[in-house]
Amino acid sequence: MDTALTSELHALQLRLRRFAEDKIAPVAQALHLRGEQIPDDVLEGIVEQGVFTLPLRKEIGGSGMGAMGMVIATEELGRAWFAAGALPARNWMAALMLDKFGTDDQKRRWLPGVVSGRLQCAHSATEPGAGSDAANIQVRAIRDGDTYRIDGLKRWCTHANRADLILTFCRTGEGASKHDGISVLVVEKPRGEDFMPPSLTAQRIETIGYHGMKTYELTFKNHVVPAVNLLGGEEGKGFRQLMACYELVRLQFAFRCIGLAQAAFEVSVDYAKTRKQFSKPISQFQLIRAKLADMATQIETARQLGYAVAAKYDAGGRLDLEAGMAKLFASEMAQRVCQDAMQVHGGNSMALELPVNRFWRDSSLCTVGEGTSEIQREIIARRILGER
Ligand SMILES: Cc1cc2nc3c(=O)[nH]c(=O)nc-3n(C[C@H](O)[C@H](O)[C@H](O)COP(=O)(O)OP(=O)(O)OC[C@H]3O[C@@H](n4cnc5c(N)ncnc54)[C@H](O)[C@@H]3O)c2cc1C
Repeated sequence: MDTALTSELHALQLRLRRFAEDKIAPVAQALHLRGEQIPDDVLEGIVEQGVFTLPLRKEIGGSGMGAMGMVIATEELGRAWFAAGALPARNWMAALMLDKFGTDDQKRRWLPGVVSGRLQCAHSATEPGAGSDAANIQVRAIRDGDTYRIDGLKRWCTHANRADLILTFCRTGEGASKHDGISVLVVEKPRGEDFMPPSLTAQRIETIGYHGMKTYELTFKNHVVPAVNLLGGEEGKGFRQLMACYELVRLQFAFRCIGLAQAAFEVSVDYAKTRKQFSKPISQFQLIRAKLADMATQIETARQLGYAVAAKYDAGGRLDLEAGMAKLFASEMAQRVCQDAMQVHGGNSMALELPVNRFWRDSSLCTVGEGTSEIQREIIARRILGER
């Protein structure tokens, strides 16, 4: 038992580990190879396990287990399949945003479903010209009586097919800075690949990894959304609303990476014990032993840093520096560990049927998603230089 965990968190960890080993890990490799998403019954199972409720406060139907509950769950799901670790993240972010900023009507309509996981969410900020420069959003939402009309192209919207709600970041006006003209509109849609033609259509983006969740380019053409779906009911607040939740999202991302690295490490240990060369298991060669020792050490370092950040979050206080550090370290660690896992597997690492190359492919997202390593370093540098 990890000494950082209370008995309640430890019980959660064991329960979700069992669930993930029984329901997710056995299907992950085959579905990954076929480029298919996490099956409906697995999503349903994750909902039934109460995962979506974990970090959210009890007053809104959450479990009240805080950031610690969130990171424990994320690691266990991510250990079974990287995409499964990512699955609840969009809902957690949407619930936090609704809870912090939503109007009473928005809370009543959506919060219970988002907190339980019965409603699925996606978030769409990125555009062809707005990636790291997230404030450079060009998709426009023009007020027209009781509605907004959305026009433009969004890129990289994960889970958009399955989502009932897409939190869509749009430009509603020109503020003093480019951050000021951004608003969040909650776009409601039916589940499935059809979206809402002709005003909202989607094209899937094929990816080398992170299968299990599908990612899309979205085209809005004069798409009408009720004005009451403007988050918080006030224009120009979208960038700040996003940033208010981002530190938790980045911490969550760190634990997707930790779960992934843990999985890559475990298959490497098994392989090193059973694969024989020169009449002995390769685990007996000093250079392989050192690799395994380094993998374990790096994973544990990332985990303990992440736990410390989660505990600090639960105690309250500003956290962008620490969350950036946890995300930066865990994401680069996961890439190193997955690369080392490939090396431990030698030529067999290239055989598609082995999960090790799924881990390696999935790890390609780690240093890009939810803020690249370069952006994390910039955030950290600004803080340590006292610039913000
Ligand atoms: C599989 C996948 C799923 C995604 N899902 C979603 C989603 O659901 N919703 C969503 O909104 N977005 C999503 N994204 C988008 C993701 O958040 C962006 O890819 C990420 O923010 C980086 O933006 P970019 O890809 O445009 O890279 P760019 O910003 O173009 O960066 C390219 C390179 O330049 C570097 N760079 C950029 N600016 C600076 C700077 N100021 N200083 C130093 N270096 C810099 C970057 O670090 C990077 O190395 C997803 C992306 C992927 C690949």
